[in-house]
This record gives sequence, structure tokens and C-alpha cells, in this order.
Amino acid sequence: MAANLNPCISLPISLSKNDFQDLIQKVKDWTIMHGGGMRSKTQFSNDSLTVVPFTLLPSVFPRSEFKKAVAIQPALNELTHRVSNDHEFLYSCLEKTIEVDEFTRNLFKLYETMRNEGFTQRLSLGILRSDIMQEKESSDDRIKQVEMNTIASGFGWLGVVSGDIHRFVFQQLGLLDKLSVLPENNALQGLSSAIVKAWELFNEKDSVILVIIENQSMNICDQRFHQFEIARQRPEVKVIVKTLTQMSNEAKLSDSKGLLVQGKKVAVVYYRAGYSPDHYFGEAEWSARLMIERSTAIKCPNIQYHLAGTKKVQQALATPGTLERFVKDPKKAAEIRKVFTGLYALDLDENGDKAVKMALDAPDRFVLKPQREGGGNNLYGEDIRKKLMSCMENKERSAWILMDKINPPVQQNYLIRPNQDFEKNSTLCEVVSEMGIFGTILCDGDEILINEQVGHMMRTKLTSCNEGGVHAGDGVLDSPFLI
Ligand code: ADP
Ligand code: MG
Ligand code: MG
Repeated sequence: MAANLNPCISLPISLSKNDFQDLIQKVKDWTIMHGGGMRSKTQFSNDSLTVVPFTLLPSVFPRSEFKKAVAIQPALNELTHRVSNDHEFLYSCLEKTIEVDEFTRNLFKLYETMRNEGFTQRLSLGILRSDIMQEKESSDDRIKQVEMNTIASGFGWLGVVSGDIHRFVFQQLGLLDKLSVLPENNALQGLSSAIVKAWELFNEKDSVILVIIENQSMNICDQRFHQFEIARQRPEVKVIVKTLTQMSNEAKLSDSKGLLVQGKKVAVVYYRAGYSPDHYFGEAEWSARLMIERSTAIKCPNIQYHLAGTKKVQQALATPGTLERFVKDPKKAAEIRKVFTGLYALDLDENGDKAVKMALDAPDRFVLKPQREGGGNNLYGEDIRKKLMSCMENKERSAWILMDKINPPVQQNYLIRPNQDFEKNSTLCEVVSEMGIFGTILCDGDEILINEQVGHMMRTKLTSCNEGGVHAGDGVLDSPFLI
């Protein structure tokens, strides 16, 4: 194991077994008592929470790269907005993919239906999260974008609580001088206030905010804290929570296309579900999605934003000259381009063949991605080879994109997980981190009313692990220690 790869503290931590055990238990209790919880997958109950998994210590992140990531977010927000409003571009990005990928096709159909019928709401609200990793090999321009999320961008609360966990750990360890190294994080407040602002612009006193959730929400604290923060900011606004299935049974459109649920008109629809085929059990959920889209409610996101967040669009933006079409300021475009890493289309043409050959020659250098969200869908290493061999001459290839694998610097940390014995909690592990930067953008047609960076979240996983989903059980919450 490499020596002390986490300079925020000397490792291994110098506490007796008893003191270390006490510390871990105390921090777990602190965490769950301050909203760092989730539903347990193994013992699901609507009445209980289990502690979120987290790193005992923050992970080191270069301050200058963090600043860069934060500074670039408004430009990424605006880029996403411009892309979402460019039908020709969205179609050219997705036309081959929708031939072979049913889920993306269904989303695109919904979009086409709206284009034909006419959009009903000029106001759009984006709650975005740009995920980045550091590339350890490059000395400059270290941060590289993993992806841009435009729907259900989560951890606006858990990202905040992660920093607070680490503040508590530092306080317990007597490291008071290091508290200032943990950056402020107001993500929850910023994200919620964008939703409240959209509600205000809808300008109907009795209207409500609707949150669309999955049938079983594991990430309950993160979701609930958004709802509670909206209530804190605007006590008079009612927040209603429904699944798409419930919407299909309970909601309807008024003659003037108002979205009515529980006898109230909806001003803003905030999706925390709807990004995965698993959230659509059949026609009912798709009709509910279409009904919402047809309504006058402000959708976060609307269908164009959802499509603008596909990996295919991300890949197309990376092709020479494309990003520059949307970002007229050359300086801004250059800043954005620096965070892109190699992205390759896999269409049945010469470029696609080249990319396939490159991947077959060195699969460990790449990640193969379908048009899916929520983690656990990508392929790595030998699985890339198998997949590409199976659809070599087949247009199914167009459902995927290929991406250079980013290799973040390795650090050491303790990964604290629920129901895990002391032995494992106190084992120093080699880990890598991924940072998410939150942005909000509220527009009236082409006019940008609000465009902000509002906070961050960080997840960390074992180096041996390909994906880092916290709810999938791979990743754990973390926060940056800026140096
Ligand atoms: P999703 O929308 O499902 O979250 P991502 O593109 O974020 O899809 O991929 C899921 C995870 O896979 C990421 O959180 C990261 O851990 C890993 N990953 C994705 N792309 C890369 C990459 N280019 N290099 C290294 N790891 C990656
Ligand atoms: Mg995603
Ligand atoms: Mg992701």
C-alpha cells in the first residue's frame, strides 16, 4: 500500500482500538441524527433509516481544479440550455440511436409529439450536475467531465451533510485548524430556491410543486430534505409527491392544460424519477409523462433537457467544432473543451469502425456506455470486447458511446458502511473520487433569468470498483479537502 496518500491527516489514524471504535460509532450516530440516512435495501421499512456509507476523512482535491470546476458551471448550464433548444442538433445526435434503443426512442417520440402540438410553457428549469474526475497523468487541466446530468440530479442534500460529517470528525480529533479547508456547500438551499423561483414565476398563489418519485425511494433523506427546504423557504407552498403510476390514476389536465392533482394546479414538476426504463411499467407511466409534458407546469426537466443530457449528446459535443457552435465566446468554449475527454461514436460507418478497433485493441483504456442513467449500466475491460464483438456489423452499436477511461489519483481512506464490523470500518482502503458540481438555470425561452453554480457533492469508491453508485452499494459519500 502506498504511504500516506491522504495528507489531510497522518495515516493510519493514531487512536487505540477502543477510541477508534467509539469515534466511528459516534460519527455514525451523528450522521443519521443529522439527516445522513437512507432506506435499507435488505430490511426495507418506511419507518426506519440506515446510516449512509461515508468516508471517515475528506479526500484531497486540488483547490485550483475545484475552483475551475465551480467557475465553468454556468457556461455548462447555458450550453445545456442552448442544446436543449436545438431540434436539428438533438435529432442529428440521436437519430441512429433511437432506431435501436427503445427507451431513448420513447423519450424522443414524446419530444416529437410536443413539437407537433406546440410547447405549452416557455419557462424551463434545469437542475444540473456536472460530474468530474481528476486525471492523474495530466499536470494541467486535470479535471475531466464524466457526464452531465439533466434529470433527477441527486445528492444536493447528502453532499452537504458529507462536509458536515467531516467537520464533526475533525472537531472530534481536535483538528480545529483544518476546519476552514472544507469548503462551504449550500447546494440544498441553491437547488431548492431555483424550484421556488420557478414557482414564483408561474405566478398563481394556490399552485403547488409536484415531485415525481420512484415507487420505492431508497434515497429518501436526499429527496425529503429538498421538500423540507422548499417548505422552509416558502411555508405557504404545498409540495405534493407522486409516482408516475399514481399520476396516471389521479391527475388530469384542465381545459387550459393546467396540470391538476389533488384538486390543485401544479406550477413546477421536479423529477426524481423517470430517467430509467424501470420507472415505466407500461403505457400508464408513459401517458403520465406525456400529460405532464403537455401541461402548463414548468418541468424540471422538460423533455428537451432530458434528451440534452444523454451520453450521445455529450459525445457529439466533443466532436471538433460542435461545442463551438453553441458557445460563441471562444474563451469560454476553450475552457469547456479542456474538461472534455475522448468520446467516440460507434455508428456503422468508418469512424465507428475505427473506434471499435481502438476499443478491441485496448479495452482497459475505455468505458462503453449506453444511453442510461442511474449507474451500473456501463461496460469495462473484457465486457467491452464481448459486447462489441457481438454487435460488430450491427447498427445496435449506435446505442452506445465509447469514452476514454479517466484514471483519478489514488488516495487512502476508511470506508464506513452500515452494519459493517470494526475490522472492515478500520481498514485503510485505496480509493478514488468523483466530484459533482450543481448548477441551476431558469430561462424564459432564450432569455436566461438565473444561471448559477450552487454547490457540490463528492463520492468515493475502491480503486478496484468500476462504478461508484452510493445506492448500488459501491460508492460512499465524501467531501473535498482542498489543498
Ligand atoms: P450514470 O449516468 O449511470 O451515472 P456515468 O457516466 O456517470 O453514468 O457512469 C457511471 C460511473 O462509471 C461513474 O460514476 C464513474 O464511476 C464511472 N465512469 C463513467 N465514465 C467514466 C470514465 N470515462 N472514466 C472512469 N470512470 C468512469
Ligand atoms: Mg447520469
Ligand atoms: Mg453518473
